[in-house]
Amino acid sequence: MDKKTLRQQIRTLKKQHSQEELQTQSEKILQHLATHPHFLQAEKIMLYASLPDEVQTLDFIETWRHRKTIILPTVVGDDIIPVELAENVTFAEGDFHIPEPQSHPYTGDFDLIVVPGMAFDADGHRLGRGKGYYDRFLSQHPQTHTIGLCFDFQLLPNVPCEPHDRIIDEIITL
Ligand code: ADP
Ligand code: MG
Repeated sequence: MDKKTLRQQIRTLKKQHSQEELQTQSEKILQHLATHPHFLQAEKIMLYASLPDEVQTLDFIETWRHRKTIILPTVVGDDIIPVELAENVTFAEGDFHIPEPQSHPYTGDFDLIVVPGMAFDADGHRLGRGKGYYDRFLSQHPQTHTIGLCFDFQLLPNVPCEPHDRIIDEIITL
């Protein structure tokens, strides 16, 4: 199946789940993340501020932002520009209606990068929204451990993969 059709299928599946159910799933998925050895050991962590159809991270970010260095993506043109979630940072809504911290770009390295996705498979193939933002961003951090978060209906037997697609090291779902 091609990527575009797969994205439509995932959108249809998502509509069969209430926001409450997705919130409950999100909390369980993030409990897994919070106890994961890679997360516990990591100090500088790239997370993402969730859109309504992604594993909900906003509470998790609030919980962890004072204990670890949390970096969030901002979208500038065709690129993800990482920005540190410093103590007094303010947010503004970005291009994709994602809350983005307003500060200078983070130029340090990462111990862990956590990515959203429309679908994943067990081999770490990832389907994004179709603009390749994370493929480009992750290609700049080839050595960093990556974890994908997804709802149960987003983990598929097989996600199509092209040469430019970056493989995600681990997927956490229900
Ligand atoms: P997504 O990963 O969001 O599902 P795709 O994998 O379909 O989207 O990628 C969308 C487009 O992004 C590709 O057709 C490609 O042109 C571009 N792209 C992705 N990664 C790179 C890269 N590393 N360098 C240049 N272009 C890229
Ligand atoms: Mg891709």
